[in-house]
Amino acid sequence: MSNTPPVCDYVGSDYRARFWENQGRDYEDQVERIALRRLMPANGTTLIEIGAGFGRLADEYVGYDKVVLFDYSRSLLREAQAHLGDDPRFIYVAGNWYNMPFVAGLFDTMTQIRTLHHAADAPALFRELARIAQPGGNYVLEFANKLNLKAILRYWAKRQMWSPFDREPVEFVELNFDFHPRWIRQQLQAAGFTPGRTLAASYFRLGWLKRTIPTKLLVGLDSLMQWTGQGIQLSPSVFVHNAHPAEGETAVPYTFFACPHCQTGLGAVVDGRLACPNSACKRQYRVENNLYDFKEPI
Ligand SMILES: [Zn+2]
Repeated sequence: MSNTPPVCDYVGSDYRARFWENQGRDYEDQVERIALRRLMPANGTTLIEIGAGFGRLADEYVGYDKVVLFDYSRSLLREAQAHLGDDPRFIYVAGNWYNMPFVAGLFDTMTQIRTLHHAADAPALFRELARIAQPGGNYVLEFANKLNLKAILRYWAKRQMWSPFDREPVEFVELNFDFHPRWIRQQLQAAGFTPGRTLAASYFRLGWLKRTIPTKLLVGLDSLMQWTGQGIQLSPSVFVHNAHPAEGETAVPYTFFACPHCQTGLGAVVDGRLACPNSACKRQYRVENNLYDFKEPI
């Protein structure tokens, strides 16, 4: 777990209250749900949301037998748990996404919304996701698009230094990146995914529009505009459906967690701990109130 790129930590943050509640983000929330439903199978066996935060989208996953809410922040996961209650479908897992604590080929569906912008090394993340992806499954990724209309206009007006046309990711604030759609597709393909249907979302993410036009109308327009993403994406948010790599392992039934350090499969929880059976490793991880904590060994 040592040499991974830096990870953005929301521990103890007031992200939910600060960003989502009473902040006029109904529009973003609703258009993201529409895009997600269009690209994600409604039912399945095992789903993971990468960067699930406080579980804002958890109610979209009720058609799945097992739902892993994965995040780097323990406190956001505890918030998710507080409002989702004791629903046994949900499993709360804290960890580093460059070293996922799961056996290979486990998840038939993976979703990631509004978190890739914290990936300092997106190609490494995609490679790790390809490992835990079950062949035949689906990965729905949302990313912040650097090639958006606002950035293009600002660049042409010389009010922004970086070029939205340049393929490389731009770090506009420390550990906050925007990505070029072509670059993202290339990196997904390099990791073995097959990017397919693409939606352009949140074209109307502008304060004055949201204040003057009823949310319902904006959401309806966005819902229509999303389909244009199949041709060109100039929206601040892009959703892309990916088929999982066809080659690869499928997890053996009844295996689930693996040591994030050595990838050895883990057995049952004993005394609030998961112990790595690899004698050269022997790391132990804490399990407390249905929160599996793989951020660091005990
Ligand atoms: Zn181990």
